[in-house]
Amino acid sequence: MSEKTRVVVTGAGGFIGHHLVKYLVAKGYWVRGVDIKEPEYEATAAHEFLVLDLKYWENCQKATAGVDEVYALAANMGGIGFIESNKGLIVRDSTLINIHTIEAARENKCKRFLFTSSACIYPGYRQKDPDVIPLKEEEAYPADPEDGYGWEKLYMERVCRHYREDFGLDTRIVRFHNIFGPLGTYDGGREKSPAAISRKISLANDGDIIEVWGDGNQTRSYCYIDDCVEGIYRLMRSDFHEPLNLGQDRMLSINELVDVVAKIAGKTIYRSHDLTKPQGVRGRNSDNTLLRKVLGWEPQMSLEDGLAITYKWIDGQLEKKGAKKKSAPVETNA
Ligand code: NAD
Repeated sequence: MSEKTRVVVTGAGGFIGHHLVKYLVAKGYWVRGVDIKEPEYEATAAHEFLVLDLKYWENCQKATAGVDEVYALAANMGGIGFIESNKGLIVRDSTLINIHTIEAARENKCKRFLFTSSACIYPGYRQKDPDVIPLKEEEAYPADPEDGYGWEKLYMERVCRHYREDFGLDTRIVRFHNIFGPLGTYDGGREKSPAAISRKISLANDGDIIEVWGDGNQTRSYCYIDDCVEGIYRLMRSDFHEPLNLGQDRMLSINELVDVVAKIAGKTIYRSHDLTKPQGVRGRNSDNTLLRKVLGWEPQMSLEDGLAITYKWIDGQLEKKGAKKKSAPVETNA
């Protein structure tokens, strides 16, 4: 890899984008980060950071000017609570961001374009049971994705294919399955389950009850951020054009996830279940057969080790804010 390879990471002020920037800079790339905001928890490692709203065409032209490769991560998104109650906002913003970014990449003659899709594109009818069969890439159709965020991602996967076939833009498509780790959102309503549970347990006292959304029997698999950026990089360097899962294939229930985090925290934690809260699909797991074949690699970090690092970071953040002193003694619904 030449020292002079220039790349842009959009969404570089966000969780995965920020980690990806650090990874690519360490690999010797010249990196431009672009986002509507700067990273929240630590300074960017990017050589250049542009604060731009990528819904707008001229900003996408600036973002992709003079770079060889585009890692397109910018999206208006969050955890299940945010996704299920902001469908119009999500499809409007992410459609504008993505279509303008890919067209600007084409116009600016960028050589490669990596689009970050999601496990939310998989059909609802394959995810009705907690003991779900792991999802293979070809099972995306007949389409029945999550109704908003998922449709936009699936549509954009097709846009990538048509830009590659008709315009020669060399595209990559990665489908993330629940990425977690430090320096990610842990409060405010956009956080995902590992961060939300870590926050609730950090704020709880030994023996407290925390609120769990749904009955807690819904299942997921979780992938640590270092594996995520390694996988993104490996996919970009491969010659594989079809969508590829990137996640862990160890599935567990939300109730089990609570138990794992409680053990890490060294607390006895009881659960109350709020059945009125959104809980997404009943079961979801990644089938990593194609990932192993294409990349000759798969995520390495165990859930326990990844969560221990993440919990420690969130606990430290709450401590710094003084939030822990205010924790409720009996029930934490935050
Ligand atoms: P994130 O919310 O932390 O990062 C997304 C970034 O996009 C944010 O910093 C946000 O400010 C930026 N953005 C939003 N609107 C913008 C705009 N108009 N102009 C410029 N920037 C804008 O999310 P993340 O977890 O880092 O996710 C990165 C990508 O991966 C997203 O496309 C997301 O849909 C996808 N993804 C993530 C997960 C996951 O588990 N984290 C799972 C599936 C897919």
